Amino acid sequence: MIPISRPLIGPEEEEAVLAVLRSGMIAQGPEVERFEAEFAALCGTRHAVAVMNGTIALYLALLAHNIGPGDEVITTPFSFIATANSILMTGATPVFVDIDPRTYNLNPDLIPAAITSRTRAIMPVHLYGQPADMAPIIEIARRYNLAIIEDAAQAIGATYRDQPVGSFGVGCFSLYATKNVTSGEGGMITTNDPAIADRLRLLRNHGSRVRYYHEILGYNFRMTDLQAAIGRAQLAKCERFTAQRIANAAFLSEHIRHPAVITPYVRPDVRHVFHQYTIRVIGNRDAAIKQLNAAGVGTAIFYPLPIPQQPLYRKLGIEAETPVADRIAREIIALPVHPALSLEELQQIAAAVNALTVHEPVLVA
Ligand SMILES: *Cc1c(COP(=O)(O)O)cnc(C)c1O
Repeated sequence: MIPISRPLIGPEEEEAVLAVLRSGMIAQGPEVERFEAEFAALCGTRHAVAVMNGTIALYLALLAHNIGPGDEVITTPFSFIATANSILMTGATPVFVDIDPRTYNLNPDLIPAAITSRTRAIMPVHLYGQPADMAPIIEIARRYNLAIIEDAAQAIGATYRDQPVGSFGVGCFSLYATKNVTSGEGGMITTNDPAIADRLRLLRNHGSRVRYYHEILGYNFRMTDLQAAIGRAQLAKCERFTAQRIANAAFLSEHIRHPAVITPYVRPDVRHVFHQYTIRVIGNRDAAIKQLNAAGVGTAIFYPLPIPQQPLYRKLGIEAETPVADRIAREIIALPVHPALSLEELQQIAAAVNALTVHEPVLVA
């Protein structure tokens, strides 16, 4: 079976980890600092702050803006649960705005109607590696004086109108094993605001600037030099990996031809980095998945249940009408697009999709 994702760990990562192990400094140290500088350079931001994972990145970004109980944060119903859960963790309330049916990202036209006197921030997600429509989101944020916290967990290296994601507001990245760049587990927060960066560093390290003096309530959310070493080796390959993902996606979109299958839409003004390559199947999705798996093609559904429909959110009574997200969640299937795919595997994937029998045959009189 062609796996849906595969971490590409090579001798560079192995050697980098060994060097750290032999250095005698294995907790947060100089490797983390170098990783942060390189990450900030890639995103074109003045600061990057490394943390334990992407969920913590989102949580700390919210805390750094003093968002908490009584506040509302506008976000998408169609994402990994961590997006909305980071808002819950602060005590604030997520407010779900439906998605654009082509990009599956937050629909900016629907945001103004969701704004109340309690709204403090907008948290768009650059889903599957395609940037959200940032221009109108920025415009709305300015008009209503809201913070922008980008969930860029799936979108390292992506750009919107030639500007890197993570540089529009405060950017939150994940370095989990399946992400385009990994450190096993890890997270990164990018910002141009020195006050936010300073607060993030305090929150990450027990509110401490000088050892054993504590200014605010902070946590231990630090990254280790071992992870940073893996992350740096990966970051050095990011551009090559990304170019390969984009080429793989282009191959699939060119070769998939099926009346019941919709290939991914790519906005003309973005660089979509294809963390996932997701088709929509109009017809029996379960049958399609069975046929693809039988043809040796691994699949996944990101995500089968929109966040407001999750048992946790129902129990909390957080209701939202998100008909577009509900429909897309029933139709999507992610196919392998990772940079380790061979040409033969790409051909096999396209052929398996083209052979699907999920639609009613057209009757010709
Ligand atoms: C992976 C992911 C996260 C969480 O990142 P972790 O590093 O797994 O905590 C958040 N949001 C989105 C959209 C993700 O894909």
